[in-house]
Amino acid sequence: MNANLYSQQISWLWLKSLIKLLESSSNLNEFKKTIQNSFLQYLKFELTEIYILENSDQADNFDQINQIAEIIFVSKTLIEEIFLNKKPYRLSKKEILIPVEYADRLLALIQLRSSNMLKDEDLDLLWAFGDGLGQIIHEMLFPHVNSLENKNRIKEISHSIFNNLKGFLEAALERLKLLEEQNQQLVKINETRTELINNVSHELRTPLVSIMGFSKILQRREITNDLVRESSDQIQSAGSRLSRMIDDLIQLNRASTKGWDINVERLDIGEICKFASEALAPLSKEHNFVFDFPETYPMVEADRKLLRQVIENLLINAIKYSPDGGDIVCCIKVDEMFVNFSIEDHGIGMTEEEQLKIFDRFYRVKNPKTENIPGLGLGLSICKDVLEALGASIDCFSQFSQGSRFTIRMRAVYGY
Ligand code: ADP
Repeated sequence: MNANLYSQQISWLWLKSLIKLLESSSNLNEFKKTIQNSFLQYLKFELTEIYILENSDQADNFDQINQIAEIIFVSKTLIEEIFLNKKPYRLSKKEILIPVEYADRLLALIQLRSSNMLKDEDLDLLWAFGDGLGQIIHEMLFPHVNSLENKNRIKEISHSIFNNLKGFLEAALERLKLLEEQNQQLVKINETRTELINNVSHELRTPLVSIMGFSKILQRREITNDLVRESSDQIQSAGSRLSRMIDDLIQLNRASTKGWDINVERLDIGEICKFASEALAPLSKEHNFVFDFPETYPMVEADRKLLRQVIENLLINAIKYSPDGGDIVCCIKVDEMFVNFSIEDHGIGMTEEEQLKIFDRFYRVKNPKTENIPGLGLGLSICKDVLEALGASIDCFSQFSQGSRFTIRMRAVYGY
């Protein structure tokens, strides 16, 4: 009966358990015997030989390689090449030589002859098996070196684990920081949104309440002419406050979605300022507009509607934030390349810290003086957006309790 019929297939599971078993070998002879018996009994191999290079010295290795070559009956250079290539070598369809090394040290050559053809997959598995034997042979041959090498290796491995872990932790921390920042931003957006809703509903309600109150007065049967005039004035002023706030909200939406619709033309900024002041004069009898313009000054290039809106915004603020009235001085100064147009009031003014934030969306100075002045905190941020879109800039100079001056700086346009 053919013995091959009973031979098992080479499997990694089996080879791995054999390596485990070999780890407990007490000497090289026992080690070799275990391999030989297992390969013979389980895989029915015809030949299993393990040639150990017992010296760590290179020169001695050459002698041993010579001897191995003679026993196997192959050339010395072939054995050297096998060690050099660090790969199994097929002597025939059934027979292979597998070099074994560990930590760059040549340790052994395994000669295996199966009773069946050895497939490429078998060769790969036996090669991996040879690798597995490397450390066991090394431990048996050089126990003292091994412990030192192991120590170094453990050191190396822990070092690399530490580095990897460090990198991983750093990346994770970075990511966490980013998430935290994004979270903060979302919290801020949410706060701003809540603040906006509160502000808007409060600010819209105030003029509405006065419209409703004064219209009720108008419904009375007996009412003096003065009261009619007073009530209709109040209704008109509350109505225009409402309309300005709605305009601001529409503008804000436009700025954050489509951008500004700009039609550039040459404009006389002083003339626009005068028209705007005339339109706003009815808002306050306590204020006096003063125009400090040079006789001639250059034109600017801008969108008429947008520039007028910016100037109106600044004039309304000058009125709103100087509740005791007084002069509002509109001034034009030219410095060759630029037209500097400013609006100055003598009102409540601002601290330096407050001035830093006034161009932020929804920012309003909160103090007893501003408490009863209506507004959404949008006007100046819209002015800044518009002016930047027009290639101009705006800045503010203010002193607390003294007044404020806002200056628009636009490129001067000379010639026709
Ligand atoms: P609003 O007037 O609707 O609150 P703005 O964006 O126009 O919003 O102004 C932002 C803030 O800047 C105001 O709430 C106010 O505190 C301050 N501010 C603006 N103009 C003046 C000014 N001329 N004088 C003093 N404070 C001002």
